[in-house]
Amino acid sequence: MTTRQAQVLVVGGGATGAGVAWDAALRGYQTVLVERVDLAQGTSGRFHGLLHSGGRYVVKDRPAAVECIQENGILRRVAAATIEDTGGLFVSTPEDDVAYGDEFLTGCAAAGVPVSEITTTQALRREPRINPAIRRAFEVPDASIDAWKLTQALAAGIAEHGGTVLTYHEVVDLRRDGEDVAGAQVRDTRTGEESEIEAAFVINAAGAWAGRIAALAGIDDVTIVPGRGIMIALNHRLVNTVVNRCTMPADGDILVPIRTVSVIGTTDVAARDPDDVSVAQEEVDAMLRSGEVLVPGLREARALRVWAGVRPLFRDARATGSDRDISRAHALLDHAARDGVGRFVTITGGKLTTYRLMAQQAVDAMVRQLGDERPCRTAERPLPGSENGDYYAVDTRLHAHETDVTRDPLVCECEMIPRGRLERALRETGTVNLDDIRRVLRLGMGPCQGGFCTFRAAGILHEVDRLDAAAASHSLLAFLQERWRGTWPILHGDQLRQARLDDWIYQGVLDAEHLPEAGVARA
Ligand SMILES: Cc1cc2nc3c(=O)[nH]c(=O)nc-3n(C[C@H](O)[C@H](O)[C@H](O)COP(=O)(O)OP(=O)(O)OC[C@H]3O[C@@H](n4cnc5c(N)ncnc54)[C@H](O)[C@@H]3O)c2cc1C
Repeated sequence: MTTRQAQVLVVGGGATGAGVAWDAALRGYQTVLVERVDLAQGTSGRFHGLLHSGGRYVVKDRPAAVECIQENGILRRVAAATIEDTGGLFVSTPEDDVAYGDEFLTGCAAAGVPVSEITTTQALRREPRINPAIRRAFEVPDASIDAWKLTQALAAGIAEHGGTVLTYHEVVDLRRDGEDVAGAQVRDTRTGEESEIEAAFVINAAGAWAGRIAALAGIDDVTIVPGRGIMIALNHRLVNTVVNRCTMPADGDILVPIRTVSVIGTTDVAARDPDDVSVAQEEVDAMLRSGEVLVPGLREARALRVWAGVRPLFRDARATGSDRDISRAHALLDHAARDGVGRFVTITGGKLTTYRLMAQQAVDAMVRQLGDERPCRTAERPLPGSENGDYYAVDTRLHAHETDVTRDPLVCECEMIPRGRLERALRETGTVNLDDIRRVLRLGMGPCQGGFCTFRAAGILHEVDRLDAAAASHSLLAFLQERWRGTWPILHGDQLRQARLDDWIYQGVLDAEHLPEAGVARA
């Protein structure tokens, strides 16, 4: 069994874990990050896409609102390339109490969330598709944030500072040295090979799975209650601004423009298992009904895909009471003080918007335990790619493509991915998995849901990476299978027609069912 050495081992490659590893690497610690699948394949890649201004929490949870607006400002400086500055609107629909708007204004003032009330005419001019019967409207600095771009930028920063990111590596056990945690046993989930990582400190950032990681260190009472929520992507930008209902947080009350689509969400249902990302048909219907209140006619828009993510809600087993002790804020557990287990902390819960703050608190706790003095620098240091402070825009890719339409043909028209960019991503990531490429480039995430790009990309995989035909076919089928999971629960109308066309391409023309997949199990 091979053994690696690290000063800091971080478990979990979502936004929090990648943020922790970036913070530790920037403070000069030799850092290894392990993720059991790909980066942001847990909750971070299954969230709603909103960089909160804090507006959503100003009445219900003011400390959370303060954290959000502060982190919103910091991320706009250090992670600009991962953000689209859409702005945000809170609108009182006919179903909302207009008086809530006054509480909202008071809450924004108290939390420091910049807000201005505009006339409903101004709001409708800005977003003509929202409910014409809205009665009040407020502007706030909400934005759209790309979690895949963010975690990849964090990974690039970790590598630049001498750290290592091991994706497809699962922690299967934690090593103890007396009262301290001293490293982990990990398994390569693609080859099954096991290895050891010896570490002076371990930070558990495994989100909804954090309780399981703590249990590997013999700490059995870190209870994370998984709160499952669904989101539905609609095939174009119904709005260009994040639009929230101006009311207490509820289901289906936010519409977020993300790249070429808009996403309505979300719900919150207690799940038994963090790996349960199933979607119930009733939830889809309820979500579309709620969306209709924000944008009349939303139900008629083409729904492209539905997916679920799982919130890590920490229940403090040491507190009295039950549900009141389930926190929506983040939780930092210093296991030396809490459980007498040294060199080990857990950071979980919170929001993607607050990942940097969570990371800072976790690494500060480590630094204290180690008796070091190394200040956090993540609030000032831009991530790789964000140095010039430019946000991305919906037309960034179109603009780049139009500078030379002849030289670099598009592989994916929906997401404007040229062949050269795909080849570069294949080289840089070293992956042969089209789903990994989806997370890097958004391949197959537009209106055709992979209908026209998957076979082209698989062909390029074969040609460029010299994957043999069987392995390229396997990659193609696994990708189609993954796309299908999110499409079938919302199949109706135009999307059903698109699915039939995709089916004809793959079954009728390519006979995908019978492609050779020598030696590889079908997904
Ligand atoms: C439906 C929904 C919508 C949301 N919308 C928003 C939003 O719009 N804005 C916002 O700010 N926040 C939002 N959130 C909250 C936000 O998405 C999460 O708080 C955040 O993504 C959690 O990140 P994380 O890194 O802590 O967890 P995760 O992203 O889940 O990362 C944990 C990682 O640990 C890995 N892991 C687990 N076990 C092991 C192991 N044994 N070995 C190695 N790795 C392991 C997992 O694979 C996973 O990738 C939303 C949450 C949900 C559920």
